[in-house]
Amino acid sequence: MRLGRCFVSGDAAHVHSPASGQGLNTGIQDAYNLAWKLAMVVHGHADATLLDTYDAERVPIGQALLASTGEVMDTIMVDKADGTGGPAHSPRDFQRQLIRNMSGLAIAYPDSPLTVPGGGTGGGPRPGERLTQIRAADAQSPGWTILREKLRSPAWHLLVFAGSEEPGGQDHPAAGAGPLPVWVEILTISRHRHRYDGGDRRVWDPDGTVHDTLAATDGEWLLVRPDGHLSARGTGDAGLRAALDRLTSLHTAEPARA
Ligand SMILES: Cc1cc2nc3c(=O)[nH]c(=O)nc-3n(C[C@H](O)[C@H](O)[C@H](O)COP(=O)(O)OP(=O)(O)OC[C@H]3O[C@@H](n4cnc5c(N)ncnc54)[C@H](O)[C@@H]3O)c2cc1C
Repeated sequence: MRLGRCFVSGDAAHVHSPASGQGLNTGIQDAYNLAWKLAMVVHGHADATLLDTYDAERVPIGQALLASTGEVMDTIMVDKADGTGGPAHSPRDFQRQLIRNMSGLAIAYPDSPLTVPGGGTGGGPRPGERLTQIRAADAQSPGWTILREKLRSPAWHLLVFAGSEEPGGQDHPAAGAGPLPVWVEILTISRHRHRYDGGDRRVWDPDGTVHDTLAATDGEWLLVRPDGHLSARGTGDAGLRAALDRLTSLHTAEPARA
């Protein structure tokens, strides 16, 4: 979906039958995926190699779209006389697969260069997946109401589950990992109100819904991309430093935040 300085998105990249009504959704996802990467490169926060991940992440999505819409067409075009041409599996499986594909909610980038594998084996979203795999009722909880609003800003977010201990003079709970890149915004999430001082980098999660739905334990961190997909998660400063170093290899050497 890229040739030199030229990028294609939407129907220009993957024109298909309108049978499953996904063309517009997928085109907007293409544009969003590309936009934040272009912005980082244009503003000098990232090396141009970041743009290679547009192709790496979106070509498989376009290919899957062509395959699934092709399958819908095959189903519609089933030959009534001999029954050939229909789906190979049961109607219920087919319906389930269709809904997952049509909603776009199953899209993930597990093999992307921007995904640091290995985290999330204890449940919750895994690197590459969307962060907000939550039910409508959970989305209305106090913690998620604050967090969803903060995640609307198209920035990288580092979610740190802070536990109950006092900050102890550190700039932020992940201070042991060293300076954060300027393109990362940190959000501290705690069940405890004394941690929630009304600051714009704090998320108070009084009933623990954010913790539970993300299967996050105190001391854990999650690194979220501008488009809401999880890039990495883990515990400990060393793991966070390793994840950031891996990602910053795609970024220019720029002054870190003090
Ligand atoms: C019947 C039908 C039903 C659909 N239903 C759904 C649905 O329910 N849900 C969904 O998500 N999608 C649906 N789609 C698909 C959706 O409409 C398209 O995927 C979407 O509009 C593609 O947007 P785009 O910006 O990539 O391309 P386009 O909308 O095709 O925009 C391309 C633009 O470029 C212009 N252009 C072309 N050549 C040039 C040129 N040389 N110079 C300048 N301008 C040029 C064109 O005039 C056009 O305005 C449907 C499509 C059809 C046909």
